[in-house]
Amino acid sequence: MNTPKPAHAGMTQFAVDGGELLVGGVPLARLAARVGRTPFYAYDRAQLTARVREVRAHLPAAVGLHFSVKANPMPALVQHMAGLVDGLDVASAGELKTALDTGVDPVRISFAGPGKTEAELRQAIAAGVTLNVESPGEIDRAARIGDALGIAPRVVVRVNPDFELKGSGMRMGGGAKPFGIDAEQVPACLRQLDGLGIALQGFHIFSGSQSLKADAIADSHTRSVELALQLAADARGPVAGVYLGAGFGIPYFPGEQRLDLAPIGANLEQCVARLAAAMPGTRLSLESGRYLVGEAGVYVARVTDRKVSRGQVFLVTDGGLHHHLAASGNFGQVIRKNYPAAIGNRMAAEGERETVSVVGPLCTPLDVLAERMELARADVGDLVVVFQSGAYGLSASPTAFLGHPAPLEVLV
Ligand SMILES: *Cc1c(COP(=O)(O)O)cnc(C)c1O
Repeated sequence: MNTPKPAHAGMTQFAVDGGELLVGGVPLARLAARVGRTPFYAYDRAQLTARVREVRAHLPAAVGLHFSVKANPMPALVQHMAGLVDGLDVASAGELKTALDTGVDPVRISFAGPGKTEAELRQAIAAGVTLNVESPGEIDRAARIGDALGIAPRVVVRVNPDFELKGSGMRMGGGAKPFGIDAEQVPACLRQLDGLGIALQGFHIFSGSQSLKADAIADSHTRSVELALQLAADARGPVAGVYLGAGFGIPYFPGEQRLDLAPIGANLEQCVARLAAAMPGTRLSLESGRYLVGEAGVYVARVTDRKVSRGQVFLVTDGGLHHHLAASGNFGQVIRKNYPAAIGNRMAAEGERETVSVVGPLCTPLDVLAERMELARADVGDLVVVFQSGAYGLSASPTAFLGHPAPLEVLV
């Protein structure tokens, strides 16, 4: 196999053979023919498995690993992940159904998210999944629904910590937030649960996501465990679980380095020891979405036109922001940067290259997949591949915008 070394850390996951990218071991043009039409998302099953193994190899054996379904809710992928991880975290009735359909034990499913509806609470309690409660009002609603169903809700208190993950791409904790219950309000919530006769199953603390800084992540894990210990002092019984958002990021942009899990694993050994000493029997679990699945997926679109405008080459494709909002730079990015991309059927190192912009078919200047990027020289019919597309891709995109057909998704 001739695999040229890509300059971009986000392109190192996929092998190349005979000038073609291999996804799930299948050359890209053959995969496109098999799928039958473009654009499509393809997720590499072997890479998903390998990634979970790699994370497990760095985590202490006592630490549980959960998959955040919202990162990629494709049912076949969730089914595959369900066999690899210890739990599935969902954030809607739709994701709950997908998780339950995998056949995993409902106690291994947790349901988080602000503003769960009555119907969602009822389905979750009836199914016996764990509710990550996000407010005192939600605790009351869960208790009332549990009474009506004759089922004691399994409740984990989601805490809005008084700190946040530094250098995090998306801040989810610290300050005033719609997520979780402020740490200082937790003692009152524990009394509320007591009064309602609901046993606390644990604490969930999520301080941020998409961090590439091992030190900052380790620090947030340590602080989260300390916070859980402090909050547990007000709990009546033993606390069964402490659930932390892992915060693990993947390299999307030029110059970003891969996250080093070794120091994070070493720090977690200390977290586990600290928990074991203070609260024996409490299990520590990490929750991750993007890191587990993001690098295993590609988005593939076909070049439908090649044109030159005032000296700049544009490759127009049949895919764009309606399928992949994040790659277009419109899903929370402050400054637009290119996701790693390539012409997947022209991967030979020696071919002609040129600087082009890759755009989609939508009538908006926002519909850009790559801006002035050096790629192999491509023409109509060639396949543009956007890497790092296994998380927050299709399900985070406005597929109805302009009414083009939805892309397909395949697990290879
Ligand atoms: C979204 C989310 C995650 C996963 O974040 P990733 O960056 O995909 O790992 C974990 N926990 C909670 C509570 C979340 O909302």
